[in-house]
Amino acid sequence: MNAIRGETTRRRGPALDVAVVGGGMAGAAAALALARAGFATALLEARKPAPWSMADEVDLRVVGLAPSSIAMLDELDVWTSIRSARTGPYSQMHVWDGQNGAAIHFDAASEGRDLLGHIVENSLVQWTLWQALGAAGVQVLCPAEVRACEAREDRVQIELADGATLSARLLVAADGAGSPLRQLAGIATHGRDYAQHAVVAHVVTERPHRQTAWQRFLPGGPLALLPLADGRSSIVWSLPQAEAQRVLALDGQAFLDELGVASDFRLGRILAGTPRAAFPLKLQLAERYQGERLVLLGDAAHAVHPLAGQGVNLGLRDVVELRDTLDAARAAGSDIGAAPVLRRYARRRCSADTLDALGFDGLARIFAWRSPALVAARGLGIGLLDRAGPLKRRLAGHAAGI
Ligand SMILES: Cc1cc2nc3c(=O)[nH]c(=O)nc-3n(C[C@H](O)[C@H](O)[C@H](O)COP(=O)(O)OP(=O)(O)OC[C@H]3O[C@@H](n4cnc5c(N)ncnc54)[C@H](O)[C@@H]3O)c2cc1C
Repeated sequence: MNAIRGETTRRRGPALDVAVVGGGMAGAAAALALARAGFATALLEARKPAPWSMADEVDLRVVGLAPSSIAMLDELDVWTSIRSARTGPYSQMHVWDGQNGAAIHFDAASEGRDLLGHIVENSLVQWTLWQALGAAGVQVLCPAEVRACEAREDRVQIELADGATLSARLLVAADGAGSPLRQLAGIATHGRDYAQHAVVAHVVTERPHRQTAWQRFLPGGPLALLPLADGRSSIVWSLPQAEAQRVLALDGQAFLDELGVASDFRLGRILAGTPRAAFPLKLQLAERYQGERLVLLGDAAHAVHPLAGQGVNLGLRDVVELRDTLDAARAAGSDIGAAPVLRRYARRRCSADTLDALGFDGLARIFAWRSPALVAARGLGIGLLDRAGPLKRRLAGHAAGI
């Protein structure tokens, strides 16, 4: 880590148990979960989130929350507010191959559940978590950017860009895929650039979405149509970079027409759409989730392809593991920032996230096959999987985080 140079000018508050850096969905959930578990917690965020309002257009960034994430948000007492604000529940998922027509269908009822998940706006989840931080006793520092940190024997000393300092027994880096803290700690990443962008927008379709998440795999990448609460669908269309730029530059009607073709008109014609945005896609895994009195969590630790809709679900599983690990350490009278404690969290989450991330990457590779023989083999495999009850149930259970 970068050492803190010279004498610091100001100190903020008493020593903390945990300082969480990054107040996105994962970091805000971590701060809330740790404070609720009785740890003196601060959340440091560079940019204050914009207030979420029902009157605003639906955020272009949405996520599919799996049952494990919903259970966790419920445990934090924020799910009821999120659910009553605006979410798109879905009970079915239909995935099909654009090259050979093979399909796999998941149905909540056949898994003994009411729903497979909810499509929720990132800003709604983040804003609702932020609303709960104060009452839970989280010390929120915003805007606050970490400039340097230095691990000492019993704490980590943190220096902010404005010169203020604070200390905590543990520093949690939840500062996103570009994680400045991960870089300060010298933790390398590995992975690959998909050379794809995900084009996102909300669209009105001729036919209703029937509370179903639809995903068609095309040679250039998958196209997902995710059910929104207001009857529209949110698209996540992964395309090679040049194609994404071309599609972004199309005029409104030309874009809707191309989208209709790409979706195989599964929901009929695409009648209208919001402005579009695009996000670059990469697989990025931190080589370790642990530094001196530091752990990584959320996208700071792992960025994955959105084809399985699992990025933040993995981040929220990190949060649960970290909370439970620190809880157990405290109960055993251990220092919550001690290396053996952090190793337990890091080992468990790093191996689980890596397996998932490589699984999603494997899917991206398999669906990129173009040779007719491989495309036919893939179709056979999808058909077999759709009929293989126990294996299909295992897959659905895993995606649900059960
Ligand atoms: C197109 C697309 C579709 C997706 N769909 C899904 C889906 O269906 N399901 C799903 O689970 N996931 C999905 N994801 C992934 C999901 O959006 C991310 O995993 C999630 O948003 C990451 O949350 P995070 O809190 O870890 O990081 P971020 O949201 O990146 O938050 C990091 C925070 O740290 C702050 N920060 C950064 N640096 C500093 C600093 N130095 N000091 C203080 N603060 C700092 C930032 O301001 C930011 O608020 C999708 C992603 C994309 C791109």
